[in-house]
Amino acid sequence: MKKIQVSISDLVIGKGAPIAVQTMCNTDTLNVDASTQQCIQLAEAGAQLIRLTTQGLKEVEALANIKAKLRNQGITTPIVADIHFNSEVAIAAAQVAEKVRINPGNFSQVHKDAQGQFSKFIHECKKYGTAVRIGLNHGSLGEEIVNKYGNTPEGMMRAAMQWLDMCRNEKFENAIVSLKASNTIVMTQAYLLLYKAMEESGTIFPIHLGVTEAGNSDQGRIKSAIGIGALLYKGIGDTIRVSLTENPVHEIEAGKQIAEFFESGDAASLLKSVESQATKTPQLNFSSFGCQKEDWNRFIIRVASLFGPMLLDYSIDNFNISNSPYPAKIMENLRENILQGARRVFYHPEYIACPGCGRTQYNLEETFNKVKEKTAHLKGVRIAVMGCIVNGPGEMADADYGYVGQGGGMVTIYKGKEPVLRSVPDTEAIDRLLDIIEKDTN
Ligand code: SF4
Repeated sequence: MKKIQVSISDLVIGKGAPIAVQTMCNTDTLNVDASTQQCIQLAEAGAQLIRLTTQGLKEVEALANIKAKLRNQGITTPIVADIHFNSEVAIAAAQVAEKVRINPGNFSQVHKDAQGQFSKFIHECKKYGTAVRIGLNHGSLGEEIVNKYGNTPEGMMRAAMQWLDMCRNEKFENAIVSLKASNTIVMTQAYLLLYKAMEESGTIFPIHLGVTEAGNSDQGRIKSAIGIGALLYKGIGDTIRVSLTENPVHEIEAGKQIAEFFESGDAASLLKSVESQATKTPQLNFSSFGCQKEDWNRFIIRVASLFGPMLLDYSIDNFNISNSPYPAKIMENLRENILQGARRVFYHPEYIACPGCGRTQYNLEETFNKVKEKTAHLKGVRIAVMGCIVNGPGEMADADYGYVGQGGGMVTIYKGKEPVLRSVPDTEAIDRLLDIIEKDTN
C-alpha cells in the first residue's frame, strides 16, 4: 500500500505526520490590507494553512499581493486559493498560491471537458510545485455522478476517485482530498467509502476532514467534533478544518482542541474506559476529561469527540457525566446537542450555516444569530443561512428552508431547492422567512 505525503512549503501532511489545523479568511480577498491583517491573526493563532476565496483573476493578483506582504513580515504560513468553477483562474492561482482547492467537476458541465481542464491544471501544479485539494461537498456533485449514484456518500466517493485516478495516471502525487457534508452521517460514510476505495486502488492520498456548514457556538463545535472525531478514531484524517460561522480565529482554537485530544492519547484512553463499562449509557466523571470549569469549549469538544462517534454508530444510546461544575440545565443542553449532532434525537431546529468567506454578501454572523433566536422553537426544522447565491443553494444540501445572500442588500428565500422569494431587502428577510415557515408548520 502506497501512502502519499504532501509537502506544502515546510508543512508535511499525511503518512503519519501530525494533524495540520487550517482555516479560511472571511475577508474580501480584493481588500488586500484587511485580508493580510486577518492572515496575520490566523497565523498567530496557530493556523498551519490559510485559505482565501479566489473568484477571478483580480483575486489571484490580490492573493499575490497578500502573500508578498505576509512573507515580508516573516509569516511563512502557506496560502491556499479557493476556486469554485473556473479552470483558468485555478491555473493562474497555481502559479501564486502554495495550494489550490478545487472541485474539478465544476470546471465544466461536460465531463470530458472538465477532465481536459483538470489535466491542464495539474500540469501547471507540477510545474510550480503547487499542492491541490480535490474538495467535493455534498450537494455540489456533477450531473453525471448524481444521475448514476444520486447525491449520496457513494456518489461523493465515486466523484473523488475519478479525479484521484487521473492524478495517479498523470503521476501527480501532490494531492489531498476532502468529502464534506453538513450531515454527520453522510460525511462519515462518504469518508469511510473513500478510504476503502483508496485502499483498494493501492494509493492513499492524505485526507482533509471537515463538517461543512456546521453553524456556530456549541452546536457548530459539537457537530464538527463528532464528524471529525468519528474518523480520527479510525486513523483517518491528516488535516482538519472546523467550519464555524464566527471569527475564523475560533476555528483554529477548536481545531487544535480536537487534534490535541486525539494526538495526546486522551481520546484512546477515555474510549477504553467507556468500552470497559459495557453499557449503552456509559458514565464518566467530569475530572476524567482533564478540563477546568473555565475550559467550556475544550470540554464540549472532548465530550462530543468521545461520545458523538459512539452515538453515531449506535454503540451507545446515551451518556452521563457526573460531578460536573456546570448547572444541570447546561449539562442537559450539552447532552441534547450531542445527541442531535449525532442525528439520534432532534430537540432543536437543525441549522446549516456557512462560515462565510470573501463571497459573503452581508453580516452573516449577526443575521445567523437573529435567525436562530427567532426560530429556536421550531424543533426538527432544517434552516440554512448561506452567505452567497453562487454556492449557497447547492451547499445547503437538504435544508427545508434557506436564507441566501444575493448581493446589494438583497436576499433570496428558498423552500427546499426552490427559490420562493427573490430580492427581499435584508431588513425584511428574516420576517419573510418566518412567515413562510409558520404558514407551513401551522
Ligand atoms: S456559501 Fe458561504 S462559505 Fe460558501 S462560497 Fe458562499 S459565502 Fe463563501
